Order: sequence, then structure tokens, then C-alpha cells
Amino acid sequence: MSADLTKEWLRHRTGRLALALGIYALLFVLWVAFGASRLPHREAIGDLAFPPIGLTAAVLTWRLGSDESLKRRARVAWRTAALAMFFYAGGDILWAYYELVLGIDPFPSLADVGYLLFYPTLMLGLMTFPFAPRTKASQTKFWLDAGTVLLGAWMVIWYFVLGPTALAEHADRLSALLASAYPIGDLVLVFGAAALLLRQPESGNRHVLGMLAAGIASFFVADVAFGYLDLQSSYQAGDWPDAFWMLAWFLFAASALYQSWWSSRKPVAAGVWPPEGIRVISSLPYAAAVLGYGLLVVAGHRAALYPLGGLLYGAIAITALVLLRQLTVMGENLRLLADTQQLAITDGLTGLLNRRQFFELAEREFARCQRYRRPLSAIMVDIDTFKAINDRHGHLAGDLVMQAVAEHCKRQLRKVDLVGRYGGDEIVIVLPETDLHAASGVAQRLLAAITQSPLAFGEHLLKISISAGVAPGNGSASLTALLHRADEALYQAKQAGRNRIKISVEG
Ligand code: GH3
Ligand code: MG
Repeated sequence: MSADLTKEWLRHRTGRLALALGIYALLFVLWVAFGASRLPHREAIGDLAFPPIGLTAAVLTWRLGSDESLKRRARVAWRTAALAMFFYAGGDILWAYYELVLGIDPFPSLADVGYLLFYPTLMLGLMTFPFAPRTKASQTKFWLDAGTVLLGAWMVIWYFVLGPTALAEHADRLSALLASAYPIGDLVLVFGAAALLLRQPESGNRHVLGMLAAGIASFFVADVAFGYLDLQSSYQAGDWPDAFWMLAWFLFAASALYQSWWSSRKPVAAGVWPPEGIRVISSLPYAAAVLGYGLLVVAGHRAALYPLGGLLYGAIAITALVLLRQLTVMGENLRLLADTQQLAITDGLTGLLNRRQFFELAEREFARCQRYRRPLSAIMVDIDTFKAINDRHGHLAGDLVMQAVAEHCKRQLRKVDLVGRYGGDEIVIVLPETDLHAASGVAQRLLAAITQSPLAFGEHLLKISISAGVAPGNGSASLTALLHRADEALYQAKQAGRNRIKISVEG
């Protein structure tokens, strides 16, 4: 998220609470890194650090279930995720009770029930989040991508945990079953997290879901590392997987806090220009492929070069080339798409918004300003005696003048202002968050800039001037009515002798 947003968030109480939890998590990570093996009470600290942050994350997530600004489905999703967190925190409490109070080995025990309920419940929650309706093609792409990610995760789990678990000797069948249940739970979670990242969230803030997914990724690392260390009977409370679990809980809590702050925030002017960018390629499936092949290299580097070693490296090279080729084509397509989109929304001669795009954005801005009672103004601009320039110097000169005027408009206006080519030599401007007084100032400035910079055309110096009509948004029932008022003011400016601005008086 951007630095500004983060700063704004940290000034809110939800941001401060996130910061406090971050410090708690950081202290724990520092303890894992430097203190666990040296300081006393290793087991107690390792066990007792988790229930508080786990329960906090669960409660914060649960509260999103009553956030009225969220869709019903999203509220159900948050509630389900919270339930999963309660299960896990319950497991942690039982674990601590067995280990610290009863002094018995908590694996396997009732704590595992809590832990194991976490995985499917969280997955259910993640799948419940509402997503934008998807086309058939994007649905196919989603399943292919999710499948790739799942296979990558499966390779990791197989190599580090499931394979060794299958080979290892187990005390009893229950431990064997439980030992394989966790890695499978992890696969389920990876799928849930991938689904979250790969599908386009319909509403809400993507940082929120990003944090949640990052939390799950951290959880995955901790779980796999724990499984791996546990197989070698070398895991102790305070070992490095604990740091990843702690990070995961912090991210779960932070995502809930960020969501509740985001909902509480007053809506602000949406950045309407430039229009929303084209979505970048999801790198998730590629990361999974690289991970899987990385493991293959690690596991196979001792194999004899003939036949398996050579084939292995050949296969990896082929896959890498195919992936690169695909990425090149996709990059090309994205650029083409961006160009096409640009063409579809702008006017070819001036680069201003075309009429259709202008109206689409301006309608939205007008509605927003009406809804939140914010000021908004419109300016209608028309080049003076443009026909004469065309007639005297030719169409090319006219085009250059048109471009020059458009350039002045772009330069004099802010990024959030909407400037469109209305038709012919008329330019329409909508200024959000600008009252009539400020808008007249803008129009005056524009007029002065244009009159002061005549355009060199061959040996001629073309004098350019404009007339403009300014109208305030308040008092206008619709965008069309507002533009009509600006147009009337423009007509008066023309009547009064051109090269001037007029302000719409009634209203
Ligand atoms: P007024 O001061 O009353 O606006 O006089 P005017 O000559 O500018 O009159 P009007 O606005 O009615 O004329 C617009 C002319 O602009 C008509 C058309 O030939 C010319 N025009 C419209 N679009 C273009 C364009 O893209 N390029 C050029 N060169 N001329 C254009
Ligand atoms: Mg004109």
C-alpha cells in the first residue's frame, strides 16, 4: 500500500493497534532469533505467546461480521475465517495446558482437533468472499493457475514432509494419520490463499486480502518447517517456525484491522484520471513452477548425468524457455491492450478524453459530489473564430491550433480534473472539489495562457483566443443541466465580443 495511506492508517486507532501487535510480534521474533536458546522459560514463552495474539486476531476478524458497509457474503466470509482462528487459538490453549500444566506431550491430543478444524474452516471462509463475475475463459485460467500453485505447494510438502512421513516409523496409527493430516491441511490453505489472490475481489480493498494471503503463506512456511523438524525430532518451542506462526497471526489481525479502518473511512475523490490500469500478469503460477523445479534441482543434483541428470536439466531448460516465451507474448499483448484502451477513451487529435469517456467519468464525479455535498464546477470552452483560421491557413493549421489549445488545458488543470473534447472546437471541463470562484480563476488563467502564446505556422503567427462559460454544480439537477448552463454562459461570452469568460448567474 502507498506510504500516504499507511501514514493515514497509523493515525487511526485501528492502525495504532496494528502497530502495537506488530511490536508484540517483533519482540517474539527477536526472542526466537536471539533469546530462546539462552533465556529461561523457553517452553512457557513459546506456548503462552500465541493464545493472546490468536484470540485478538479472531475477535477482530469476528467483528467484521457486523460491518454494515460490507456485502453480506463478505461478512459471512469474515465470520467463518474468525471461527477458524478461534479453533486454532483453542488448540493453542489446550496445547499449553497439556504441556505446562499437566506436563504431558500434547501430540497427539485434543489440541489437534482445534488445529485441524482450522484448515477446512478457513478455506471455507476464503472461498466465501464475493468475487466479480468471471467469464468462462477467466474461469478456466483460474483453475489452471490454482492447479499450478497447488502442484508447486504439493512438491514442497511432498519433499519435506509427506514423503518422509510415509517412510518414517510411527508410534501408532493415530500419530501417523495426524502427521499427514497437517500437510494436507496446508495444501487446502494454499489453495484458499491462491484463490484469494487469483480471483478478482469484487469490492473492498485488495491490500486487506493481500495481507490475509501473506498471513496464510507465512503459516504454510511455519507448518511445513515444523513438520520437517518434527520428523527429525528436533523441534522445540521457540524454534524458527514459531516466528513464522507469529508473523501469520500478526498479518491476520492486521488485515482485519485494515479492513475495519477502510470501511470507516469517509469516501474521498476517486482518482478517475488516468483510468484504471490494466491488470498485470499474476506471477503466482510462475513462482510455483520455479519453486517446484528448484526442488527438483536440489533433490536431483546428485543423480548421474546419464540418463536422469541430463534429462532433468533438459526438461528444466525447456520449461524455462516456454515460460519465457509465454511471458514475452503476454507482455506484448498487455501493451497492445493498453494502446487499444487508450484509443478507445481518448480523442485522436488532441489526446483529451473523448465524449463518451468524458461523460462516463463526469457522471460518476457529478454523482459523488452531489451525494457528499461537495463543490464541483464545469467550464465550456470554444475557440474564437476557428472557422476563419481554417479558411485562411488551411485545415492543418486548424488542427495545430486545436492541439495547442488542448495542450494548454492539460497544463493548466489538475490530474483529477476531467477535460474532454465535446465536439468541433468545443472543449468541456469538469472540476471536482472546486467552487464557482476557483473555477472562474482557472478559466481566466487558461484564457490568459492561450492569448499570450500565439502559434507559429510557417511565416505566420496565429493569434488564438477562446471564450469560456463557467457554471457551478450545486443547483444543477443533472450533469446535462450543468453543462447546458455552462454552454449558455459560453454563448453570452461570444455575444459580448469573444476572448472572455462569463459566469452562469442564475441558480
Ligand atoms: P466562434 O467564435 O463563434 O466559435 O466562431 P468559429 O469560427 O469558431 O465557429 P464554430 O465554433 O461554429 O466553428 C467550428 C469550426 O471548427 C467548424 C469546423 O470546420 C472546425 N473544426 C471542427 N473540428 C475541427 C478539427 O478537428 N480540425 C480543424 N482544422 N477544424 C475543425
Ligand atoms: Mg468556435
